[in-house]
Amino acid sequence: MWWSLDNAGPMIIDFHTHSHASDGALAPRELLQEAAAAGVQQFALTDHDTVAGYRALVEDDGAVPAGMQLLAGTELSTLWSGVGIHVVGLGMDIDHPVLRAGLDVLDAARRERAGLIAARLERLGMPGALAGAQAAAGVSQIGRPHFAAWMVAQGHVKDANQAFDKYLGAGKTGDVKTCWPSLAEATGWIVAAGGTAVLAHPLKYRMTRAKLKRCLKDFASAGGSAMEVYSGRQTEEQTRDLCKLAVAQGLLASVGSDFHAHWDYGPRLGFDVSRLPADVVLLTAERLGRQAA
Ligand code: AMP
Ligand code: MN
Ligand code: MN
Ligand code: MN
Repeated sequence: MWWSLDNAGPMIIDFHTHSHASDGALAPRELLQEAAAAGVQQFALTDHDTVAGYRALVEDDGAVPAGMQLLAGTELSTLWSGVGIHVVGLGMDIDHPVLRAGLDVLDAARRERAGLIAARLERLGMPGALAGAQAAAGVSQIGRPHFAAWMVAQGHVKDANQAFDKYLGAGKTGDVKTCWPSLAEATGWIVAAGGTAVLAHPLKYRMTRAKLKRCLKDFASAGGSAMEVYSGRQTEEQTRDLCKLAVAQGLLASVGSDFHAHWDYGPRLGFDVSRLPADVVLLTAERLGRQAA
C-alpha cells in the first residue's frame, strides 16, 4: 500500500476535528488522547476560524501522544456564490502574518455575525440571545452551536437539532453568512502561509453536481489543492463518488471525521485510508510537507 507510513498495515488519519477552542466538547489535549486511543497516526485539529487550540497543544509539553504526527490546522468560514463554504487549512505556519491577519478578519466577522444573529432572534421573541450565546461560548470562537445551546437552556427549543431546524440552519433566519471572506481570499491566506487548502465536506452544501464542480474549479484556481472524500458519517457509496470526483478534478483526497463530541450517532475519530480506492492521490503528512517545501 503506497500510502502507508511503513508499508505495514493500515494507516489511520484524521484531518478534520474540533475542540472546545471552537464548537467541540473536548479540550485539545483530551481530543488528542482520544484520537490516539482510536489509533490515529496523523492528526489535525481544525477548529472554526482559529488556531488557538493547536497553539495551546504546541506549547503544552507532552500533549502529543507518542507515535502521532500532529499537523497545524483550521477550518475557515468563507462565501462562494451565496453558499457558505468551509475550507480546511493544513500544515500552515500559524505565525505567518497573512494568516494571522486573515484569522483576525474572521474573528471580527464572527463577533459581528453573532450580533446580527442575536438581533434576529430577539425580534422573534428571544431576548438576551447575545449575552446568552457569549456565555455559552466562553473563550471559544463563538458560533451558531452556542446560540443553540442557549436556546435549549432557555427552553425555546427542545434540543440543538431543533434550534438548527427552526432558527439557525441553512436558509433560516439565524443563518447569517454575509460577513465571511470569499472562498478565494481565505484559500489564499492558507496558501500564503505555506499550507494546503482542502475543500471541506463537499456534500454538505447540497449543491447540484454542476455547481459543485464550478466551486471546486474556482477553489483550485485560488490555490486549493485537495477536497475531503470522507468527512464523518457518510455511506461507502458517497465516499466512492467523492473519490471519483477528486480524481476527475485533479485534487488530492483528504479524510477527516469532523468530530465535535461523542454523540450517539456522531462520527468516530479516525479513518482507515486503506479503505479508499487505489487511484486517489491521498493527502498525507508526508505529501503536505512536500507541498510546503
Ligand atoms: P457556525 O460555525 O457558527 O457557522 O456553525 C456551524 C456549526 O454548527 C457546524 O460546524 C456544526 O458544528 C454545527 N451544526 C450545523 N448544523 C447543525 C445541526 N443541524 N445540529 C447541530 N449542530 C449543527
Ligand atoms: Mn462545528
Ligand atoms: Mn464545516
Ligand atoms: Mn468542521
